[in-house]
Amino acid sequence: MNLKDYIANVPDFPIPGIQFKDITPLIGDGDAFRYATEQFVQFTKEIQADIIVGPDARGFIFGCPVATQLGIGFVPVRKPGKLPREVIEYSYELEYGKNTLCLHKGDVKPGQRVLIIDDLLATGGTIDAAIHLVEQSGGEVAGIAFLIELSDLHGRDKLEGYNVLSLMTY
Ligand code: AMP
Repeated sequence: MNLKDYIANVPDFPIPGIQFKDITPLIGDGDAFRYATEQFVQFTKEIQADIIVGPDARGFIFGCPVATQLGIGFVPVRKPGKLPREVIEYSYELEYGKNTLCLHKGDVKPGQRVLIIDDLLATGGTIDAAIHLVEQSGGEVAGIAFLIELSDLHGRDKLEGYNVLSLMTY
């Protein structure tokens, strides 16, 4: 299956100059969504992850089916003001704008092997923040998985030394 057939490119969204990769045709197709999930499940098994961490909000879409399929937990990384208990937080630059991400203190346990999963690697700021939050919690980032990688934005440069899977590269 060619997953790129299920990605819509939307020029100039949300601001001029951005080529937005719309994943909704992929998740709206049962076979394509299952195929992508299977690739993530395989990778998660290979790296022997104990738990999955996914950033708000599209990391939830891909992280949760993988977690339920393997019977392991899912931990959300969220925008400020969303998590009700004590959090640790980290701020970073986006391809467009700025953001802060939070993780519940204690949700990732020291020594746990973590898969971080998100829809897309652009500048790498989001995933870098998630890595900081996991490692600050004492977790070990065993792998990082994306549906899409935008190679010309060089997000990979921030991920040197980590085991990274991208199902599609543009
Ligand atoms: P970054 O932190 O720059 O790697 O951006 C990562 C997040 O921003 C991804 O998880 C996407 O949800 C979103 N994003 C950034 N650039 C794009 C794009 N060109 N198309 C779709 N989503 C994007």
